[in-house]
Formats: sequence, C-alpha cells, structure tokens
Amino acid sequence: MRLRNITGSREVIADSRFTVKEPETQKGKWSEIFGNAYPIRIEIGMGKGKFLHTLAKNNPDINYIGIEKYSSVLLRAIQKMEEDELPNLRFIRMDAEDIEEVFGEGEVDRIYLNFSDPWPKDRHAKRRLPSGQFLARYDKILKKDGVIEFKTDNRPLFDFAVEELKEAGWKADVVTYDLHADEKLMEGNIMTEYEEKFSGMGNPICKYIIRR
Ligand code: SAM
Repeated sequence: MRLRNITGSREVIADSRFTVKEPETQKGKWSEIFGNAYPIRIEIGMGKGKFLHTLAKNNPDINYIGIEKYSSVLLRAIQKMEEDELPNLRFIRMDAEDIEEVFGEGEVDRIYLNFSDPWPKDRHAKRRLPSGQFLARYDKILKKDGVIEFKTDNRPLFDFAVEELKEAGWKADVVTYDLHADEKLMEGNIMTEYEEKFSGMGNPICKYIIRR
C-alpha cells in the first residue's frame, strides 16, 4: 500500500507527538512513553492504522505501537489520531528488520501481522514478515507466553507462513482458512483496511495465532 509520495509527510511525521523518534533509545523502557505498566502490543506493517486505532480505543488498559515503513501511509494514521487522540497509541516509522534494536527482551506482549506484503519471488522470501528470519527476531522481543496473530487473504503467503513454524520452533493455537465463516474466531475481530477490501471481494481470510 505505497501511496503516492505525499509532499511533506516526512516533516509531519518528524513533528508529530504521536510518533516516537529515535525509537532505539526507548529499548527496554517503553512503559515510560505511556506512563504506565500496561502490556505493549505492536502491529508490524500497520498501513493507515485503522485496526490499531480501533483496538486502542476499545482497550484503554493496553498500549499499542504501530510500525510502518512508509511515511506516506503512516501520515494517514497520524491524521486519524489528530481527529481522535488516544493516550495508548503511538507510531514508529521504521523497517521492521531492525525491530530487535527497538524493543528489549520480552518487552512486547503480542504482535499483529495483517495482510503483510507477499514478496512472491523466492529470493525475497526472507523479507516476508511471517518468515523464519522474522520469527527469530520476534522470538527476542516477545514475552515468553506471548502470541503472534497473522491474517491474510493471500493463500500462498499463508501456506508459506504455516510451513515456516515448525523449523522455527513455533506452534499454532489456531489455523483457519476462512476466518469470517468461524463465528467463535470472529468474536471481537477488528477488520483491517485490507481485510475490508479483500473480504468484500469475496476472498476468504486466513488467520493463525502462534506461540513458542
Ligand atoms: N496492515 C494493514 C492492513 O491490513 O490494512 C496494511 C497492509 S499493507 C498490504 C502492508 C503494509 O506493511 C504496508 O503499509 C507496508 O509499507 C508495510 N510494511 C511492509 N514491510 C514492512 C517492514 N519491513 N517494516 C515496516 N512496515 C512494512
């Protein structure tokens, strides 16, 4: 979802009180940013941030951090916060490859991956956010009994993600190939922008919830 380069988006992000600059300086002390010890949950590849904004609004006792690589997309999440400010939501503009520099060991309570870029070429597999390489990074920052929740309508990406689990030492609590047909799993489901778009086109949505 790379929007056209929006002039000034980098400057808006640099000036915004909702984005955390030099996030690596917060490693191990994210609770200071929020001023409380509530659990910290992150979405990697947040896009325009609708999912996380809704979660943060519904769960004031949980802190949320949205991570997004592109300024032009992150700008939309900032604009939403300006309209409807929440104390428990902050953003970081960064490439998730560096996630271990930003969060301390076990500092993150839960990780959400929603409609991650598929990187269909084999030689780009390690860039996929649910790849074994990324699972190894998440292993460092996620608390011991923490979980990762991943949703996508991209079946080849989902099959790849499920295959990666065993070798990387993760176990699935939930695997579904049609989330929206599962009444129980749909309880409390928050639709992402991509989920709305692709489920609206009739695509089934796959989801897993995994732990070590
Ligand atoms: N999660 C949103 C949703 O479900 O509507 C957006 C999905 S969009 C297809 C994927 C997003 O992940 C894009 O905004 C992209 O810039 C971001 N992204 C991809 N790779 C990333 C990385 N390595 N670090 C941070 N963000 C990344």
